[in-house]
Amino acid sequence: MVLGVDVGGTKVAVAAIDGVTPSHAVEHPTVTHSTEALLDGIETAVRGVIEAAGQPEAVGVGVPSQIEFATGTVEMSVNIPLTGVPLREELGSRFGVPVVVDNDANCAALAEAHILGEDELVMLTLGTGVGGGVVTGGMTFRGAQGLGAELGHFTLNPDGPPCPGSCPNRGCIEAYCSGQALERDATELAQDKPDSLLAQAIGDDGKVSGQELVEAAEQGHPDALLIFENFARMLGIAIAGYVNVFQPDRVAIGGGISRSSHLFLDRAVQEAAARALPPLWRRVTIALAQGGADAGVIGAGVLAAQEVGGHTPWPHATTTDKRRPASQACAAAERAE
Ligand SMILES: [Zn+2]
Repeated sequence: MVLGVDVGGTKVAVAAIDGVTPSHAVEHPTVTHSTEALLDGIETAVRGVIEAAGQPEAVGVGVPSQIEFATGTVEMSVNIPLTGVPLREELGSRFGVPVVVDNDANCAALAEAHILGEDELVMLTLGTGVGGGVVTGGMTFRGAQGLGAELGHFTLNPDGPPCPGSCPNRGCIEAYCSGQALERDATELAQDKPDSLLAQAIGDDGKVSGQELVEAAEQGHPDALLIFENFARMLGIAIAGYVNVFQPDRVAIGGGISRSSHLFLDRAVQEAAARALPPLWRRVTIALAQGGADAGVIGAGVLAAQEVGGHTPWPHATTTDKRRPASQACAAAERAE
């Protein structure tokens, strides 16, 4: 048994994870006024689950931050006070069992792959920003130090709007397909058209919220529909690129904005179909993420289980024609020797 911990901007969720099944789940508000208080809050939540479920073999932790995976140190964390914190070491000494730390989008992708039994999967998490994760051979792709697979920061337009993330670039997918991008476009359109429905939706903060934009689009308001048309087109261009680069079996679309997928997903798939290389496109499935609200804790738990299991593929993975046998990498290594 392992524990999965999902540290979000507003809540810390912890559960015991057996395979992909969570139990003894608890949720505590995220304490963000200091690093020490945040770590104490995580410890309290974890100890609560340990009391109910027993001592775990390992603890996996997903955080909304950039992680140097090898050391479990947080490189950068915008919404919670963890920048520079050696999180794996800090939590490992508190719990006395191995702790593994990864980016929350990587955890969500790993959960999605594991729940569906997919070895090759790309996941885009459309929220305030755009997160991403790549699972290949059943394992998370991370790059050299674990900072890789920032799928939201791939350039779609070199002269596009400034990226709203802590990113120096312009025209990233996050500059088009994030909640912040939707609010920016809705607010600009409302300011340009003071007589429009969107203009009436400008709040006290001078902005049109994503929720107001969704409601306007659902009512068939042309300006709101145009914003989602642009959103869908850019998302489709991004999906086509990721299909061409990674050749996943599945591209999963998750995150809070995916709840409004009726406003963009079909159009995004149509755009991707017109752009992706046909032999790759024929073999891929584009679908909403199935992991649901528990994906974060499940992914963190799967990560912990993989770490204590010595990077072996998950137990329920079967060798079928489409799957690469887990032994292939070992065989190649033996031939090299
Ligand atoms: Zn960017």
